[in-house]
Amino acid sequence: MMNRRRLIQAMSALPFGASLPGLGHAQAIAGLPALKAGYAQRLKKILAAGELPYIDMESSCNSTKVDIDFVAKNMDRLNIGLMALSADIGHGEFKKGVRYDNLSEKLLASYPDRFIPIGNGGQPPALTEAPDEFLDAQEAAIAKQQIMCLGEFEFRHYPSPRQAKRGAGNDRDVRVPIDGPAGHRVFGLSEKTGAAFQLHYEIEDELLVPLEKMLAQYPKAKVIWCHLAQIRYIERTSRYTPAYVDGLIKRFPNLYFDTAFGDSASVYPLSNQRHARIWASDGGLVSEWRDLLAAHPRRFLSALDLGGDRMDRMVSYDQKHRYFLKCLPADIQHQVAYRNAWSLLFNEEFA
Ligand SMILES: [Zn+2]
Repeated sequence: MMNRRRLIQAMSALPFGASLPGLGHAQAIAGLPALKAGYAQRLKKILAAGELPYIDMESSCNSTKVDIDFVAKNMDRLNIGLMALSADIGHGEFKKGVRYDNLSEKLLASYPDRFIPIGNGGQPPALTEAPDEFLDAQEAAIAKQQIMCLGEFEFRHYPSPRQAKRGAGNDRDVRVPIDGPAGHRVFGLSEKTGAAFQLHYEIEDELLVPLEKMLAQYPKAKVIWCHLAQIRYIERTSRYTPAYVDGLIKRFPNLYFDTAFGDSASVYPLSNQRHARIWASDGGLVSEWRDLLAAHPRRFLSALDLGGDRMDRMVSYDQKHRYFLKCLPADIQHQVAYRNAWSLLFNEEFA
């Protein structure tokens, strides 16, 4: 095992010593080689024990409430390899002027072999009330090599199921035009720095054209469109099908999808529809979605989508995600679980 103290010492020698492959220019990321070595060692240890590790590329939390030790312990217990756990900036923090939450730094200080340094959730109020200040702060964090990826940015977000149930619905009924100033800034930032960003973008016919326009305009932006096949109102979309996603994947080489979605019984309360469309009625995957994953095994990423209000549900989220992974052809499971995230983060194959 790598000596943890040595790893932390290497980490604290900011700025990180090697160039981040995705940056494309001579920017250094602090401690990247040490981080990467720690990540690889952890993944290999889980593999050697005969288990499948995965990299949760999209979860978020409230940094003032998260119990870091609890998360880390559960990661061990559940054989979760790594997590990109981002901090959302809540209303209280926002009012105090917070535009960048340094949760990643704290996570790495305690558990440098588990957490991928990531920026903050782009959601209300940060992205809606102070988009420029918020994005300035995220950009500065990339420039200071504090984070490797960005998000999750909510450009179109319906109230989450739990908010809907609480009646707090309108709080997160978000519409930020993807082809507006904030969208151009986020796509441009990703293109310029090579840092991938997570996009939350509900599926509606009228939203697809502006997204395609942005993907075409910023072909080097690395976009992780979260929640594959999560359609909350089927009547609002006729175009989004496995064939449509296949077309997007072929046109846009830097477009990825994460696989954080509900189980087959999960119902979106505001439409009363089973929104995880990837599931067939027999509990397996719809064959066309399964075929799509098999045809493009490098474009899909493991993700749990844990959130500030559901960190206590890691065990059930893990079980559901592992059930999904088991539904995939065997040779693809490792690809989706951790290999794709690895190449996205490091521009090289996991070896
Ligand atoms: Zn999301």
